[in-house]
Amino acid sequence: MTTGQPTRHRPRSRATRILLILAAVVSAVAVLAVAVVAVLLLRPPGPRPIFQMPVACGETWQLGTYPGHDDFDVDLFPTEGESWGRPVLASYAGRVTVAGINGSLGGRTPEDPDGPRGRGGGYWVKIDHGGKWETQYLHLLEPPLVRVGQRVEQGEQIGRVGSTGNSGAPHLHYEQRQGWQKVEAYFDGEPSGITHDDTEYTVNRTSNNCGTETSR
Ligand SMILES: [Zn+2]
Repeated sequence: MTTGQPTRHRPRSRATRILLILAAVVSAVAVLAVAVVAVLLLRPPGPRPIFQMPVACGETWQLGTYPGHDDFDVDLFPTEGESWGRPVLASYAGRVTVAGINGSLGGRTPEDPDGPRGRGGGYWVKIDHGGKWETQYLHLLEPPLVRVGQRVEQGEQIGRVGSTGNSGAPHLHYEQRQGWQKVEAYFDGEPSGITHDDTEYTVNRTSNNCGTETSR
């Protein structure tokens, strides 16, 4: 069908052609990027690393949870001696992805243990162990001893136990994650038994995080 109007094909200018090519290239790169991200997200996680307890070799600590904590969250208290300042160790080798403040610090210190509570995790560290496995360590006493991007070995000290953030008493709040999901913490290949926060639950375990000497 014709309208009687002659169709005029105006030759595209050089600038228009370059723009069209650029647009095509940009879309191709965007599609590729989305595909890469999708593949990374859908990739199955790697095998569970043999995590060790995040505290000194040979020490026995109480692992516990309570209603309202959150499923799989583990709070650690030493069965002997003070909690304040105890070394916090990397559960497994990896790369530090967070080392800073979560929420607000508050004012709970060894000198003022009942000082104002902060919010969230206080000083905290997150380590990427590869294969989508991560661990995190909350309520540290002082700024973490590691920085983002740093490679850490299993057993390397990353901080000290404190009570920053939303913490009632000095302790270490600890999580193991697979992708975005928290999972039951395993230590030395054994499940911790801490799977839900329906009831208060505690269990004592002795750390076998003995591979590397504490660096500080
Ligand atoms: Zn906790």
